[in-house]
Amino acid sequence: MTGEQFKDAATSCAADIEQYFASLPSRPVLPSVSPGYLRKILPDAAPEHGEAWSDIERDIERAIMPGITHWQSPKFAAFFPASTTYPSMLGEFFSSAISSPAFNWQCSPVITELETVVLDWMANMLALPQTFLSKGQGGGVIQLSASDTIVTVMVAARERYIRRQLEREGVTDSDAIEDRSCEIRSRLVAVGSEQSHSSTKKAAIVAGTRHRSITTHRSNEYAMTGEDLRQKIEELHAKGLHPYYLTVTLGTTNTCAVDDFDSIATVAKDFPDIWIHCDAAYAGSALILPEYQHFSRQMAFVDSFNMNMHKWMLVNFDASLLYVQKRRDLTDTLSITPAYLRNQFSDSGLVTDYRDWQIPLGRRFRSLKVWFVIRTLGVRGLQAQIQHGIDLGNLFADLIRSRNDLFSIVAEPRFALTVFTVNPLRKHPPQLENNASNGTDPRPYQDSHVAMDPATNDQEIEEANEITKAVYETIDQEKEVFLTSTALG
Ligand code: PLP
Repeated sequence: MTGEQFKDAATSCAADIEQYFASLPSRPVLPSVSPGYLRKILPDAAPEHGEAWSDIERDIERAIMPGITHWQSPKFAAFFPASTTYPSMLGEFFSSAISSPAFNWQCSPVITELETVVLDWMANMLALPQTFLSKGQGGGVIQLSASDTIVTVMVAARERYIRRQLEREGVTDSDAIEDRSCEIRSRLVAVGSEQSHSSTKKAAIVAGTRHRSITTHRSNEYAMTGEDLRQKIEELHAKGLHPYYLTVTLGTTNTCAVDDFDSIATVAKDFPDIWIHCDAAYAGSALILPEYQHFSRQMAFVDSFNMNMHKWMLVNFDASLLYVQKRRDLTDTLSITPAYLRNQFSDSGLVTDYRDWQIPLGRRFRSLKVWFVIRTLGVRGLQAQIQHGIDLGNLFADLIRSRNDLFSIVAEPRFALTVFTVNPLRKHPPQLENNASNGTDPRPYQDSHVAMDPATNDQEIEEANEITKAVYETIDQEKEVFLTSTALG
């Protein structure tokens, strides 16, 4: 493809993409294809000779679109938002043109420097404690996904624990360090709550350590508490095991629960060798709004924090931000410098080499799209966008409440997520107490419903789970809207 042909193709693609967004409301949100559909419509082998762009472009609608679940569709209410925007797409466009796997500063200084600047901007926009900024001992880095950030910090946590223990024991001989490290590692346990995202469990598999969950309770809105944590730590110690890492969550995947940071922080003071990571993959975006920034201030006790701009913050996948209070906690574990990676700039200690903050060597120029999005919307525009999501979530919850003959809210709307069940069949529909008849309340149902009664017994929950699943599956088959179901104990 020549430069001239590229210009024509890119112009045509831009028009296709604009048209795609315009057509989204009228497209079914879910595809109707059967497994293996694509193999049937594509040739068995790669083309012998190159094809014209116009032929390739035609296959977007013919072969690709039928297999797309439209995450950008207004009918998509499943999983979490994975929003994209035009400025974000333009960032990807330039980034792919530059295509520099900038693992160190020298590879493309601006790729490192822009990342540091926009991550500091974001830390301030989210009102994180100043210790997470690059001007001190902390800083941020953009990684692929929240799962990546969790594996990265868990491995760093494991090695930090081992380093400290070796130091306490005065082990210095290199063979002895290796042997003793293996022994220590075999007793280590990563801990999360039952509601932590599965990435914590997966990270423990990768880190090669045990994993234990802390039970959460409906009566406590599924939040982990300091008391639960202390009990788990003591139980593990009694078995000769050593907790070295903990995930706390701001906005759990099931119900957007927020762990009880204050009580956890108090317990954490007694166990300074445990690395505490806050996973705010989805709900972290809400910290851009002042009324949520009391959570940001609570982050002073965590070693690291992640949020995904690619969920709710209008940057297309992938852009997961990881912040640490002490960057050396990462680099002490992840920095290995063979001769071919040495250079005068890295040796000077004056530059950041983000390869030492992550597991892979190469990295994408992700900060460009983040920069484009922040500049195009501004802080105010991003705040308005998040507020709009929260307002829609509250409206949705009000609509659910207005039909309390059919539905019960399991977890009140938080960060735009409402979790509800279809009422068990044998449960008598609750009576509307304050209905519209007196005409004084524009939301007549407002006081007529309480969230699922905490006294609801296990059998009722089981029934509610089952009927909810059946209703969910029917909705799913109709493909008109796409929701996500879950099961709670
Ligand atoms: N953490 C939480 C709280 C999540 O809700 C999710 C995804 O839904 C993840 C982690 C995983 O995110 P990623 O796909 O970026 O690994």
